[in-house]
Amino acid sequence: MLLRHTPQEISERSALTINPAKTCQPIGAMYAALGIRGCLPHSHGSQGCCAYHRSTLTRHYKEPISAATSSFTEGASVFGGQANLLQAIDNIFTVYDPEVIAVHTTCLSETIGDDLPQIFDKAHKEKKVPPGKTLIGAPTPSYVGSHVTGFSNMVKAMAAMAEKGERKNGKINIIPGWVEPCDMEEIKRLAALLGVSVNMFPDTSGVLNAPMTGEYRMFPEAGATIADIRDSGNALGTLALGEWCSAEAARLLDSKCKVPCSILDLPFGLSATDRFIDALRTIAGTVVPEEVMVERGRLVDMIADMHQYLYGRKVALVGDPDQLLAMTEFLVSIDMQPIHIVTGTPGKRFEERIAEITAPMGRPVNVRAKGDMFLLHQWIKNEGVDLLIGNTYCKYIARDEDLPLVRWGFPILDRQGHQHFPTVGYRGGLRLLEQMLGALLDRKDRDDPESQFELVL
Ligand code: SF4
Repeated sequence: MLLRHTPQEISERSALTINPAKTCQPIGAMYAALGIRGCLPHSHGSQGCCAYHRSTLTRHYKEPISAATSSFTEGASVFGGQANLLQAIDNIFTVYDPEVIAVHTTCLSETIGDDLPQIFDKAHKEKKVPPGKTLIGAPTPSYVGSHVTGFSNMVKAMAAMAEKGERKNGKINIIPGWVEPCDMEEIKRLAALLGVSVNMFPDTSGVLNAPMTGEYRMFPEAGATIADIRDSGNALGTLALGEWCSAEAARLLDSKCKVPCSILDLPFGLSATDRFIDALRTIAGTVVPEEVMVERGRLVDMIADMHQYLYGRKVALVGDPDQLLAMTEFLVSIDMQPIHIVTGTPGKRFEERIAEITAPMGRPVNVRAKGDMFLLHQWIKNEGVDLLIGNTYCKYIARDEDLPLVRWGFPILDRQGHQHFPTVGYRGGLRLLEQMLGALLDRKDRDDPESQFELVL
């Protein structure tokens, strides 16, 4: 009983978080920055912050994450971090020669009031930025928001680089939100099947699921190029996947460069993928190709075949808002019952949308934005579930409550596969179903009496 002190009785807390359902802003900014080709993320703060951000990403993606730090000590904390950052920019371009340095702030540099645009201006004036190289920066104070906010802030900084030229480039910007590198690949594959020319940023495919070649490359030949990001201002339109992660960048492109945007849910499950495919179809002015229809048909087939094991099963979910909205919709559409839903990321709209999505269930649902996993555990103690879906930290609740667990979301620190097997699109829906059914049927096999122990399920 690792969480033996979690009481069943719930008392309202306003100033205490226990077992957070989020992590810190710079981790999101660092993940987004790795989706730019030739980019070295830079943490403007103490070494400890940077070590934490890097190690979390390394443990999740099982890839070495390179990042630099301003290495604040007492002096920088008192007098400001400008001198450290200027020295760092000089050192990084001299020693590692990246195309881009993507700087994000930390709690400390925000608290002492370091002004990134002013420091960048000074770096350019002092010729610490070689010709053709780029500096971008995002504010990521971790005492507000979450890793999702940090991701969104860095993507918005990318959109701020967009330039409007004389002509449209015939492409559609896709801002994919915080999904796995393989999910980004899958989104590009689906767009290509519909004949849509895509400019995706950020794009971590090939960066954080790179093959072992025997040769270390500090900057893989993958990710969105600075030229493409600048060119996003000439796109025909933008599809932003996920309100929390992608919408602000898309709206900035709209206001700055007059690139119209549509904000869609992440394409998890049947309905959200339908809407994504329909948006691509409308843009391309074409019909959905047979190959995509076959993939959809396979997902519908598996849902129909296995419906008896899914129907009415209660689920508890924890994760990030964009992922949870689409996943909840998927579960409701296959007659499962997501009854406890928590995200650590703030945003009132989340609770309203979950209420709308779960309305067809005709029963009350526990939902909390800016909640924590302690609360989720208490809800489960008060009304048990058949399945728990969430990140690795859920394993403590799963063990104590003897629940099957499907690992999904961020971070996954103790399993493999999430970087390589997409969960977006129709094929991703198959993967999600396979994982859920595997967990539910393993539990059925374990618990069934011998008289009902079936060979064929
Ligand atoms: S001090 Fe702030 S930025 Fe640094 S690791 Fe902690 S929460 Fe993150």
